[in-house]
Amino acid sequence: MSVEIFNPNKTTTLETPVKVLESNSTNSSKIGSRIGFVSLGCPKNLVDSERILTQLRTEGYDVVPTYNDAELVIVNTCGFIDSAVQESLDTIGEALAENGKVIVTGCLGIKEDEIREVHPNVLAITGPHAYESVVEQVHEHLPKPQHDPFLQLVPDHGIKLTPKHYAYLKISEGCNHRCTFCIIPSMRGDLVSRPVGEVLDEATRLKNAGVKELLVISQDTSAYGVDVKYQTGFWDGMPVKTDMLGLCKKLAEMGIWVRLHYVYPYPSVDKVIPLMAEGKILPYLDIPFQHANPRILKLMKRPAAAEKTLERIQAWRAICPQLIIRSTFIVGFPGETEDEFQQLLDFLTVAQLDRVGCFKYSDVEGAKANDLPDPVPESVKQERFERFMALQSKISAEKLQQKIGLEYQILIDEVTSEGAVGRCFADAPEIDGQVYLTDEFDVNPGDLIWGQIIHADEHDMWAVKVED
Ligand code: SF4
Repeated sequence: MSVEIFNPNKTTTLETPVKVLESNSTNSSKIGSRIGFVSLGCPKNLVDSERILTQLRTEGYDVVPTYNDAELVIVNTCGFIDSAVQESLDTIGEALAENGKVIVTGCLGIKEDEIREVHPNVLAITGPHAYESVVEQVHEHLPKPQHDPFLQLVPDHGIKLTPKHYAYLKISEGCNHRCTFCIIPSMRGDLVSRPVGEVLDEATRLKNAGVKELLVISQDTSAYGVDVKYQTGFWDGMPVKTDMLGLCKKLAEMGIWVRLHYVYPYPSVDKVIPLMAEGKILPYLDIPFQHANPRILKLMKRPAAAEKTLERIQAWRAICPQLIIRSTFIVGFPGETEDEFQQLLDFLTVAQLDRVGCFKYSDVEGAKANDLPDPVPESVKQERFERFMALQSKISAEKLQQKIGLEYQILIDEVTSEGAVGRCFADAPEIDGQVYLTDEFDVNPGDLIWGQIIHADEHDMWAVKVED
């Protein structure tokens, strides 16, 4: 992984935002007050970091790569699971020890008492997507710099912390569901959809800035517009419905890759599949199923728990045979019996999902699932995790073998000393596999080329460049 790529899973460095900022910014003159920025957690948090940095940069603040250079440090925290909370607290501690002036924001910010108990000396604490409060706190502790807006320009698309050729497009905040293992709604509130015109404006600016792939994210992409009763918005002088289909139809006209994350298997998703079959948006759905047994799904209070998922997948594949389905699952949820786990394995065998992640259940402070009876012993969780991964590795390897000999468009992410590394439509950045083009140096990051698959293991593929 190149250091220029902002990996949401490895965001505890100060250098990364600065490097990406310098390469994305039109001007990097160092004239303002100096801020260090650390961003932890998921792509949704990354988008919040981008918004805060864009505002600060617009006001003339500089973003610097070391604690020593900074006059103040902002830590954008994650509080999703206990290990993320600990990482956030450790990072705040490091920033305090190395710099001393620290503002905390992000998901963990809603637990101010918990943070102050460990770190009483932080300057200020704000919650998730509280952009204005963070910036106000910065003003209070580090006066706005004098700056010439013509010398220190911010690109039209704002500051992006991803490489130039792909970007996350966050379409809503919060979530109306109440999954028992999750505390996100208590941190980020109920669903609030962004106006469809605003989302499409941002997508246009990103495309104009050279972005080749938009990754649509939210907590529940299929619920987009529910809170505004799917009202009709306007974009480019035309009415556009505020729902997933309306948004996808317009994004499809932009002529760049559009990839949907965090979708639930509702009937409404059926309407998006034809756009995928016609090649207008990527035939890729990231659907976090989490389990397959109805009782466990009910205990989890999962959205779409009552849907006939296998039938739905089969119907989608009948319309769009090239559809890639990515998912995540939890094993060892409280009360999960051997039979129920076996049902999950049976589901995997029949569903033949393409990309799958698996987590062993663990308590999250404040989550309802903590109170459920019959916790699964750690040794059993581990054993189930291994059985799950062994089965899915076999499925994944078989599916990738079927791609050998086929030709795909490949978006180049980086060029290393061994050749080019990219992804095809089946691979989202950071979470899926990669396509290696050994000894291919005649390409640049962001290029879209054609490649023929010549080899695959259970995760990645190897290809050779072919003429368009
Ligand atoms: S859908 Fe469930 S897991 Fe996802 S954010 Fe909402 S409550 Fe959490």
